[in-house]
Amino acid sequence: MKRILLIEDDPEIAHLLQLELGDAGFEVDWAPGGMSGLVRLREAPPDLVILDLGLPDLDGGEVARRIRVGAEVPIIVLTAADSVERKVTLLSGGADDYIVKPFHPAELLARIQVQLRHREGGEQVTIGELEVHLSKRQVFYEGQEVRLSPKEFELLSLLCTRPGKVFSRTEIEEHLWGRSLERDSNVVDVHVANLRSKLRESGAYGYLRTVRGVGYALRQRDKE
Ligand code: CA
Repeated sequence: MKRILLIEDDPEIAHLLQLELGDAGFEVDWAPGGMSGLVRLREAPPDLVILDLGLPDLDGGEVARRIRVGAEVPIIVLTAADSVERKVTLLSGGADDYIVKPFHPAELLARIQVQLRHREGGEQVTIGELEVHLSKRQVFYEGQEVRLSPKEFELLSLLCTRPGKVFSRTEIEEHLWGRSLERDSNVVDVHVANLRSKLRESGAYGYLRTVRGVGYALRQRDKE
């Protein structure tokens, strides 16, 4: 049974989600504040965190950042703030997805499934000196580990499913978040830029290819 940690101060929403997610087969652990949520996270590590942004004791963005320091667990943020800028900041700062209140529980469930699916998967892909271990979520270049954020890792795992294929921004968004984001969102470009710079810092040059106006691709196995 997958465990979900729900950090939400509104008892009505918390109660509703406990029922809905419980019916869907999840075990839900409810923390009514940021501090208690962080304590629960350590006491009983969950498979996924649902985090309300408007908490009485700590800002939700800060809670996401603190969770991310110690854990790779996926975080879905509940937000009332319908601003693109805030979402981009959240998605590049530790949250894996967001959902705007009010939302339908079925929509939240779909997002949860997308995030949990990303954590599964089995094999290993090798391209030149670059090794991507999909189940262990580790990347090595010339034997040295390349440390990536969860989203950078998912981006790289998507691209390495078909090296050489150009993935459009929409395809990448759909893989990473289960849907496409707003048209003016640059969150994919931010993650691509971060991934590219981390690969380069490890000496892995020329792996990520930008095809202007089309999308991004990983170098093919057989080419140097
Ligand atoms: Ca709240």
